[in-house]
Amino acid sequence: MTNPNFVFFKGRIIPYSEAKVGVLTHALNYGTAVFGGLRGYWNDDEKQLFIFRPHDHFRRFLQSGKLLCMELPYSHEELVGHLVDLLRTENLKEDCYVRPLAFYGDEIIGVRLHDLNPELSMVALPFGHYNANEDNMHVTISAWRRVDDNVIPARGKIAGAYVNSAFAKTDALRAGFDEAIVLSDEGHISEGSAANIFLLRNGVLATPPITENVLEGITRRTVIQLVRDEMKMEVQERQIDRTELYLSDEAFFCGTGVQISAITRVDHRLVGTGVMGDVVTRLRKMFFDVVRGRNPKYRDWCYPVYEAGKAKKTEDRTTLKVS
Ligand code: PMP
Repeated sequence: MTNPNFVFFKGRIIPYSEAKVGVLTHALNYGTAVFGGLRGYWNDDEKQLFIFRPHDHFRRFLQSGKLLCMELPYSHEELVGHLVDLLRTENLKEDCYVRPLAFYGDEIIGVRLHDLNPELSMVALPFGHYNANEDNMHVTISAWRRVDDNVIPARGKIAGAYVNSAFAKTDALRAGFDEAIVLSDEGHISEGSAANIFLLRNGVLATPPITENVLEGITRRTVIQLVRDEMKMEVQERQIDRTELYLSDEAFFCGTGVQISAITRVDHRLVGTGVMGDVVTRLRKMFFDVVRGRNPKYRDWCYPVYEAGKAKKTEDRTTLKVS
């Protein structure tokens, strides 16, 4: 992965190499940061870059900050505006990933959430697949349990809480699996290390409710709407036992990074017939049409970065002036 050229940092777009923090930075020492993750999808027919549901992503980002008592001097509309400026400055004309980060930048000793100053950074970089394998994942139920709402709330993207995801992911990969599924402390299915989960059983889709310590996923919300309105199928948000997954006909992860990734084996047991099923196949196709702005009905979810017909050439990318 190569570094981005620019960063939105302390209210301005500056060269990425100039954005520095000290080793005493509060967030670096105590995990007191929140982040977001958005995707930009390039539509080659229209020569347009579409950011997927940016207002929803930045609303959640600000709410994650609120959980950590952060008062950020931006509205979600302003953040979308700064992101558009950043993407134009990078002149990205391909699929990309956006990482906003709000962190306590104070260089002090002392763990707390009050009387601290939040800083904001945002970068965008070319990005393809998060997981090499999106249509045939072999997953394991992790020995690690999901952080509880009364430990570190999982409904927001709190940086420190991702150590929980990192434990689960690393152990799963080292054991030869593609991804981990973590259970709640009560033993019900929660989510993947960085993705929400759905399963299909007897023609009904089910996903754990938000109260099972899962992130309030934007892709999860998107999937629920598409499945109900376009596929005319029932989706239940309910507690799910581990063994229901073993007996499911289809299963998949969803998230900005993983997009929609089929789970075809769980701990060496086949999901359905062990290949990506019909529902996931159809859902994936619909999803990719929607996120690239090819479905007029959901076009409002796709925020265009460039004025129609005015995207600059990629060669200009590093020579642009920064503010
Ligand atoms: N759960 C976790 C723990 C995640 O990190 C992510 C990725 N942001 C998701 C679910 C999916 O959320 P979204 O669809 O908003 O990207």
